[in-house]
Amino acid sequence: PPAIEAVDVRRSYDLGATTVQALRGVSFTVAEGEYAAVVGPSGSGKSTLMHLLGCLDRPTSGLLRVGGRDVARLSDGELAELRNREIGFVFQAFQLLARSSALENVALPLLYRGTPRAERRRRAADALGAVGLDHRLDHRPAQMSGGEQQRVAIARALVGEPRILLADEPTGNLDSRNGAEVMRILEDLNATRGVAVVLVTHDGDVAARARRQVRVRDGLVELDTARPAAAT
Ligand code: ADP
Ligand code: ADP
Repeated sequence: PPAIEAVDVRRSYDLGATTVQALRGVSFTVAEGEYAAVVGPSGSGKSTLMHLLGCLDRPTSGLLRVGGRDVARLSDGELAELRNREIGFVFQAFQLLARSSALENVALPLLYRGTPRAERRRRAADALGAVGLDHRLDHRPAQMSGGEQQRVAIARALVGEPRILLADEPTGNLDSRNGAEVMRILEDLNATRGVAVVLVTHDGDVAARARRQVRVRDGLVELDTARPAAAT
């Protein structure tokens, strides 16, 4: 199945007196191993969309399949399990545990899955190696540069071998050199491991490097370069 399939997905927030329609009918498919950048102005619905794709939230209406599973048919527990198995997250602010080493941070998703300790440590070390941080296993976040911290976060996102990597402004807190390094690593992991990458960015250069751009405005997909213009 496609990694993600969304058909006429809507999400509104009920604020009592009013309802905010954050997504007003979004349809798109992300194939296995695809690489797409989501762009659009603040308030256009990008965060809402990423929450839905990450199974942190459910559509108000419409069809959303992640890894072939219809999220509307899943219980909260099944949704959490789907998220754990299929999705890796990378955030703008890294969101690492400050008191834990790089190795412990990366091993954390495996702890939630009940992986034995020795295997957790081996796989976490492998994942850190894949982002070029073999020499930083025992460092805590404060002992690393921003670029290194984001690479630790990428290793954490990938250690469970998810089908989909979701990145929300992954270069937003980095200078251009570290940002370029992080983008190179995401592109490399996409190419070599076949993990689908969907990233939100305000950075035009970052967006331009993606094979596919999805532009969101006012809760709708305004442009999707994977689709002919006439069909949008
Ligand atoms: P940014 O534009 O910096 O990404 P967002 O608009 O995505 O910020 O909002 C950040 C957080 O605040 C999100 O978790 C979002 O769910 C929440 N949020 C945004 N707008 C509202 C709102 N009107 N009422 C309640 N929470 C909101
Ligand atoms: P973006 O990430 O593109 O900035 P968001 O998805 O955060 O956009 O927001 C889209 C719209 O939904 C905005 O009008 C925002 O205020 C609203 N919104 C987002 N999250 C919430 C929330 N938790 N409660 C109420 N309104 C929200």
